[in-house]
Amino acid sequence: MRIVPARDGGLARLRLPGGELSARAARAVAHAARACGSGVIEVTNRANLQLRGIRADAHAALVGIALDAGLGPAVASGDDIRNVMLSPLASDETRALAARIVAAMQADASLHALSPKFALQLDGGERLAMLDHPHDLWLSAIDDGARFAVGFAGTMPRRPDDAPAPGAIARGEVVSFVTNVLRRFVALAMPEEQRMRDLLARMDVTRFLEAFTFDADVHAWRREPADGSLRLGAHDEPHRAVWYAGAQAPLGRLDASTLDALADLASTHAEGRLMMTPWQSVLIPGIAANATHEVLQRLLALGLTTDPRDPLARLIACAGSTGCVKGRADTKADAHRLAPLLPAHGEDHVHLSGCERSCAAAHPVAVTLLARAPGHYDLYRDERIVARNLTIEEAAERLARSHADA
Ligand code: SF4
Repeated sequence: MRIVPARDGGLARLRLPGGELSARAARAVAHAARACGSGVIEVTNRANLQLRGIRADAHAALVGIALDAGLGPAVASGDDIRNVMLSPLASDETRALAARIVAAMQADASLHALSPKFALQLDGGERLAMLDHPHDLWLSAIDDGARFAVGFAGTMPRRPDDAPAPGAIARGEVVSFVTNVLRRFVALAMPEEQRMRDLLARMDVTRFLEAFTFDADVHAWRREPADGSLRLGAHDEPHRAVWYAGAQAPLGRLDASTLDALADLASTHAEGRLMMTPWQSVLIPGIAANATHEVLQRLLALGLTTDPRDPLARLIACAGSTGCVKGRADTKADAHRLAPLLPAHGEDHVHLSGCERSCAAAHPVAVTLLARAPGHYDLYRDERIVARNLTIEEAAERLARSHADA
């Protein structure tokens, strides 16, 4: 397990298969956060968990707890490459296919050289899916799952003028195709080329693809729209006679007792599973229809929001200056100050970033506040600068004004 130093102690990343965490494993993570760290648990934008404030003398204990909970990799050197994103609503079949991909990646030692940032997406066409994150390799089910459209270094085509998928493969070829693509990437990439986009900026994509055989009949295919707002609230599950409930912890941050309570909720009212999502939220699947109201009330009582228009569901912030030496402002605290000042039912998502690295956002966000100094931010809208060096109150006023003008 990689534990990296941060301003507030060690930062440990726990990679979850498709964001899934059993109630038992969730209790183990909560125990680890208390026993080995500061108790702070974050849901990441890749639907993993990270524990903050890990003490230097607690690394071995943390690894032991994670392994006992079944959260470890098949081999230690394969931990970092377990990056296959799924929809929180992925079917059992899609999860099983993703597990075979991850197993094959871990079984091939040559692939352990991949960057921890190298990321794959396996999409089953679900109505709730994160389609904005660029991936090094993506595969999206078509023809009722008989084939997968594939693409590299970007996102799935959704609009008519998006670049089309280069091709499609049969479902039975997915695992060997993925491993062959990754082997070719590892063989061809220069040491400084860590992502597929780096390699394809130097090498023509057709030359990279000449080693593969595709069905080339998917140029007109576009991914059906997904709806990220379905991550929150209660909704019926596709193809199952049960519901799920989704909730957002403010700024993706939980504490150990909240995670324990979520595990209890999943055990007593559902199937004993939690799904972390790429929106840094939590979803409890498998709830009987008549129990959804009770589950939503309990999620609200835990301080989570279930309304996608709630400002705290529309704000993201990196660790900021309390957790990161590069941070120029305490982005988390400033986001909490900003939340009550935002329009109550606005649409804009707002990202507070402690520096230009933009760790909290893996995709473009409508509004970015980039820290200049403690409590002061430059305001960007659609990646264009709008105003400089605003206080949180001034930024809120600007956002309220543009909401009123819209
Ligand atoms: S965006 Fe900058 S300040 Fe924020 S966590 Fe990343 S490196 Fe640190």
